[in-house]
Amino acid sequence: MGDAIISVEELSKAFGNHEVLRKIDFNVGPGEIICIVGSSGSGKSTLLRCINKLETQTSGKIRYHGKEIGAVQKEINDYRSKVGMVFQSFNLFNNMTVLQNCMLCTRKVLHLSKEEAFDRAITHLKQVGMAPFINANPTQLSGGQKQRVAIARSLCMNPEVLLFDEPTSALDPEMVGEVLNVMKELATTGLTMIIVTHEMAFARDVSTRTIFMDQGYIVEDAPPAELFKNPKNARTREFLRRYL
Ligand code: ADP
Ligand code: MG
Repeated sequence: MGDAIISVEELSKAFGNHEVLRKIDFNVGPGEIICIVGSSGSGKSTLLRCINKLETQTSGKIRYHGKEIGAVQKEINDYRSKVGMVFQSFNLFNNMTVLQNCMLCTRKVLHLSKEEAFDRAITHLKQVGMAPFINANPTQLSGGQKQRVAIARSLCMNPEVLLFDEPTSALDPEMVGEVLNVMKELATTGLTMIIVTHEMAFARDVSTRTIFMDQGYIVEDAPPAELFKNPKNARTREFLRRYL
């Protein structure tokens, strides 16, 4: 695909002789909001981790604007500054303030001046409603607040694509909504997003495409109106029956 941002081509991953991803193929175009759903163990996190180069595939390719991302660390670092990732467990640095967490990568990786890094941090902390907490330590925040800071930190890199691996799974139920709302807002800004989630209503309402994975395969890849209303595959129907 000519205008794909990311292309995943025949991507396979095994841990020992356990095949976790089996010839996965899909393209990610500008502005797409792709939700990936599927049972635990189906390979969703491994797929995101391969896309972010946190895992090395056994075979197959990841391309970014047509160029294969190989094993050269400098290329991987440049790529990661354009394709960011938000984790279930936030991964904030607890020995730094909220502001310092948000300025670290833009200073170290993008070499922004202090002023520029500060301005970006404030802009994105405002965007997620966390500007009043710039001097707080992550340990003083709720899970929902921590995740909003982690999202702001990723946004400070001005990524082209953001990957989310179950961003609300570690949260108390009453905090899920505030994080989903931030993501819903982001989806309207033109940012390209790939989101692994168990929040089916969110996937149905916000994604432009939903992918159902099972046992290392993409079983179904369709607009949510189709996938949720009229799933073609029996395994998709079985999975959705448990959630809807
Ligand atoms: P999901 O995110 O859909 O729950 P994962 O991608 O985390 O699935 O895991 C898919 C399978 O790969 C699981 O069976 C898991 O145990 C296995 N797996 C994941 N990471 C590793 C690893 N580092 N070493 C060995 N097996 C792994
Ligand atoms: Mg997972």
